[in-house]
Amino acid sequence: MEPAFDIAIIGGGPAAASVALHLLKLNRSLRLAIFESSDYTNVRAGETLSPPLSGMLKELGLWEAFLQLNFTEAFGTRSSWGGKTTGNDFLFSMHGTGWHVNRNVFDKFLAGYAVKAGVQLYTESKFVFASKNKNWQLQFQHKETGEFAVNSKWVVDATGRKASFARQAGASVIKLDQLCGATRWYSITNSSAPQDSFTHIEAAENGWWYSTLVPEEKMLVTFISDADIIKTTTADKLTGWEKQLQKTKETSALISANKAEEELYVFPALTQYSSRIYGEDWLSVGDACYTMDPLSGQGILKAMRSGAFAAFAIHDFMQGKEDALRKYEQITLAERSVYLNQKVDFYQEGNTWKDALFWERRGALISLAPATVLQFNHSDFFIPGNSLLTREESRKLIKPADRETCTAAELVQQLKAGTGISDKRAILAIQALVNHKVLSPQAALGTIPDAIPTPTEI
Ligand SMILES: Cc1cc2nc3c(=O)[nH]c(=O)nc-3n(C[C@H](O)[C@H](O)[C@H](O)COP(=O)(O)OP(=O)(O)OC[C@H]3O[C@@H](n4cnc5c(N)ncnc54)[C@H](O)[C@@H]3O)c2cc1C
Repeated sequence: MEPAFDIAIIGGGPAAASVALHLLKLNRSLRLAIFESSDYTNVRAGETLSPPLSGMLKELGLWEAFLQLNFTEAFGTRSSWGGKTTGNDFLFSMHGTGWHVNRNVFDKFLAGYAVKAGVQLYTESKFVFASKNKNWQLQFQHKETGEFAVNSKWVVDATGRKASFARQAGASVIKLDQLCGATRWYSITNSSAPQDSFTHIEAAENGWWYSTLVPEEKMLVTFISDADIIKTTTADKLTGWEKQLQKTKETSALISANKAEEELYVFPALTQYSSRIYGEDWLSVGDACYTMDPLSGQGILKAMRSGAFAAFAIHDFMQGKEDALRKYEQITLAERSVYLNQKVDFYQEGNTWKDALFWERRGALISLAPATVLQFNHSDFFIPGNSLLTREESRKLIKPADRETCTAAELVQQLKAGTGISDKRAILAIQALVNHKVLSPQAALGTIPDAIPTPTEI
């Protein structure tokens, strides 16, 4: 039986719309469908579009329609980070300003343009199961009408951090931290202080805050921390959240006269990645490949760019270019490595609380001397939920065949060889392994112990 679709795109966020629109630019005759579990009325995280996204919207022919949505222009970032107050003005960006958007409206707008281009959109249709013969058989659960099944030649997983299809196709999701965002909305009142359109970022002892104007005269305030710290400080409840807010200087002053809404939403915001991003007649896009820390402010841009790269890869693969999917994976992994290096730099710059658990986990200063001799206590160098290295990167660390120890400098070289891992990320990763007692420092070879023997009694 001829399948209903050439490509079924599961998930209907920015990555899904981007892959669909780019695919149709390359081949108008493709039969595409998007299956989205929501009806675009649910609360979504991520509201600031970074300036380069305007270029992509222009390239897709969506720019004029986007401007009609009257979102709020974003002029840059002001941060109180690492004891310094700095600003990043988009005025000096060659891409112009960014935008603060209402994510439901933005995501629905993109999906609507995919429909205009010829995609069939099925909302309230949650993907539940996949099996493969010649084609993919996909099962969905519709909110009103119940189960239905669809056949498709190809599948794109655009389900975001859930990576729902990839996990069924054999991939596993690997977590590198346990970051969460606890978000509250405020209405701007007449007595509110004048609000500017910058995103304000403030480091705090237990994490960091960001606050930003959003459309409809609202401001959004988010506390970012690790899941366990959010729990112990009860920042997932209004009173605990407010207690953390009171410890801030800039953020609490900025919102003092605004009217708080009652709800607090907690979103997963951890950095994670999928162990596989393509397989036989499928690939993943956007957050389903890997997620970025909200500090980067680049998640939506990355998702849409990944959709564009994926469209080229699928198109080339369908034209008989066998290595197109492998090349797509290489580009994605290289981008991921650059992001992981930058994440280390950002957090190290922000650290002013040397003993606070949140910063100890990610903002440690370099204290490990290159000549430190390290003994191997384990052969697994991956620390689940608290790692500066991906599982694959951590496998590069091996004990030399001829000895029981290695210097820190040798291990850093092992990590860096043939990878994009920066010096700083490599050193801090080794240091974290020492702190977790996976590696133990030994007395340096050739040094003389300074313990004086007991005097001889005659
Ligand atoms: C607290 C926080 C703040 C952030 N702030 C920013 C920011 O300011 N700027 C920025 O650029 N990025 C930000 N991000 C990141 C950004 O939100 C994501 O990177 C981006 O949304 C990824 O797009 P995507 O299309 O890959 O996935 P998503 O946007 O997550 O879309 C996935 C879609 O799949 C659907 N879906 C999931 N499972 C199924 C299923 N089983 N069946 C069918 N459909 C399914 C979902 O409903 C959703 O519509 C933030 C993230 C967090 C957590």
